[in-house]
Amino acid sequence: MTHSPADRPATRLVTAGRRKEWTAGIVSPPVWRASTILFDSVADLRAAVRSPNDRLYYGRRGGPTQWALADALTELEPGAAGTMLYPSGVAAVTTALLSVLSPGDELLMVDSAYEPTRAFCDAMLAPLGIKTRYYDPLIGAGIADLFTDATKAVFLESPGSLTFEVQDVPAICAAAKARGIVTLLDNTWATPLLFPAIGHGVDLSILACTKYVVGHSDAMLGSVTAAPGHFEALRRYTHLLGQCISPDDAFLGSRGLRTLGVRLKAHGEGSIAVAQWLAEQPEVARVLHPALPGCPGHEYWARDFAGASGLFAFMLKGGDDAARARLIDGLELFGIGFSWGGFESLALPVDPARIRTARRWQGEGLLVRLHIGLEDPADLIDDLARGLRRFTYV
Ligand SMILES: *Cc1c(COP(=O)(O)O)cnc(C)c1O
Repeated sequence: MTHSPADRPATRLVTAGRRKEWTAGIVSPPVWRASTILFDSVADLRAAVRSPNDRLYYGRRGGPTQWALADALTELEPGAAGTMLYPSGVAAVTTALLSVLSPGDELLMVDSAYEPTRAFCDAMLAPLGIKTRYYDPLIGAGIADLFTDATKAVFLESPGSLTFEVQDVPAICAAAKARGIVTLLDNTWATPLLFPAIGHGVDLSILACTKYVVGHSDAMLGSVTAAPGHFEALRRYTHLLGQCISPDDAFLGSRGLRTLGVRLKAHGEGSIAVAQWLAEQPEVARVLHPALPGCPGHEYWARDFAGASGLFAFMLKGGDDAARARLIDGLELFGIGFSWGGFESLALPVDPARIRTARRWQGEGLLVRLHIGLEDPADLIDDLARGLRRFTYV
């Protein structure tokens, strides 16, 4: 396959979304604040109503700052038709689902999905008459056996939240496509840089941009990038639901995007170094890192992904909740908090067993989830070594 130089992801991160009519020649798309847009005449106003795309109309439809980020995310997904932006990753997930499902439809949802995604299915889709069935993340092409006439969509998340199973995304998407079933992927862990989802057959690719796109733990943002044939419905439902983002947050997303490549490289190298060290420690039963052979679905990561990011989990041998809390509480370089994808390292106790329903989590030990930031991995390893001693000795 031949590529023009501008096709390569690292170059695209620099050039994407910088159309001159939106930047007026300024290098970074500037912050354009707006609610009301003034028209020259009634005829001009009517023309704007009829043009749904990148033409200034009303603040809720966005302006050049938002369009620059949306465009950039589309350019990062070869084959994509367009991108819509949301005030959070959860808003991106819920709007994408509402854009493809109607009462009477059935949704197949991966059992390792992010917990608020499950909560939306159970607490909001169910009362709307949309049934959710959870499936084993490692089901692969076997997903076809679960399809019924009511199945309208399959939702994937790879690797899964908390337990990191890597899915056979191409096989699941091919099976769905053969039945006219829509596929949605939460691609937050990999971003399009490590896994270009649309190119692998996904119809709607979802990012919690709060994580690696923003990259500095200082803004909430979500996106959905659609394959051709799925963008019009996505845009329509996004507008119907009144979803929009501020230009300031869009600016932070575009700014983060420029360094996404170098940051992901460092997060990935750091997380693999720490994960490999953890795998050799006597206190550690298992490491759940997609790039390590012990992770369920590791072979799909090796086949499909261009690298690793910074989030993984490890399982402790024995101990109890108090011992795990001692390990985490005393860490000096790892913060204790939700979310991830910023420049800083984080540690959390996670307990997936209570969430799962389709494939029981074989949790023979307590889990700790780590986000590896941009610190020197050797310092993080020293910090964790002291933590493992606290875990063993009171
Ligand atoms: C954090 C996260 C989300 C939700 O993003 P928010 O911006 O926090 O709403 C969705 N999916 C995954 C996998 C996440 O980790």
